[in-house]
Amino acid sequence: MHVLILGGTTEARRLAETLHEDGTARITSSLAGRVTAPRLPPGEVRVGGFGGAEGLARWLREHQVDAVIDATHPFADTISCNAAGAAADAHVPLLALRRPGWAPVEGDDWHMVDTLTEAADTARALGRRVFLTTGRMGLASFAHVTDAWFLVRSVDAPEPPYPPRMEVLLDRGPFTLDGEREVLRRYAVDVLVTKDSGGAATAPKLRAAREAALPVVIVRRPPAPDGVPVAATPEEAASWVLRRVQPDAS
Ligand code: NAP
Repeated sequence: MHVLILGGTTEARRLAETLHEDGTARITSSLAGRVTAPRLPPGEVRVGGFGGAEGLARWLREHQVDAVIDATHPFADTISCNAAGAAADAHVPLLALRRPGWAPVEGDDWHMVDTLTEAADTARALGRRVFLTTGRMGLASFAHVTDAWFLVRSVDAPEPPYPPRMEVLLDRGPFTLDGEREVLRRYAVDVLVTKDSGGAATAPKLRAAREAALPVVIVRRPPAPDGVPVAATPEEAASWVLRRVQPDAS
């Protein structure tokens, strides 16, 4: 059995590790190629786009893929839609692996928005020293903001367009609570901007912001494709795959 994991997340890597250890299926992980030195999962790895839904459907047929796991980031909606279209076209079962989003707790001052453009306006209204953790790809949405200063955290250095008043913090999660407290303090941050990525690796910033009574602007997730079953954890997704390899497995 050949399983394709569309990756780029911690969960995708953990799923590849679990299935690789199990050893009953052949695993190929696919990465978009955005990060210069990605943490590679075990098993076969391919890098780069497929050429839209049609290209992905062709790839599934040519490589005789028996199951696809879309374990891409909740905000990577183009590849998720392509996966839904391609899997239907090639008659290959598809599962989405999506970590749950974050939920506010007492003391949080969250401002939910639908787009990065809206996030820029909301952050600008709430503060002047903005900790931006939405990734380097969406910085163009903040490029017009001249009266706020941005601390941009990203894995690789951003390319223009980006805000004129900005400092870059090159770093990659997981992040610790103490580390996040220190970033907020050292840079005198007065508002945090994040996507609702979910997961533990980047959640400490939310607690640090709550403790410091800072407002947080949170971009809502785009809708997931209709009709695709969803697993919340790599373990659930691995069971889904193994049930296909060994129908008697629980
Ligand atoms: P996207 O907008 O949904 O996808 C744009 C194009 O990139 C897709 O049409 C596809 O090209 C290619 N692509 C995306 N993921 C791929 C994969 N796993 N394997 C092969 N090709 C892929 O995606 P994005 O938001 O730019 O994210 C790119 C990657 O970074 C994803 O794999 C995602 O898991 C990861 N990531 C994204 C975010 C985020 O906030 N968006 C955060 C962390 C990690 P073709 O049409 O040519 O096939």
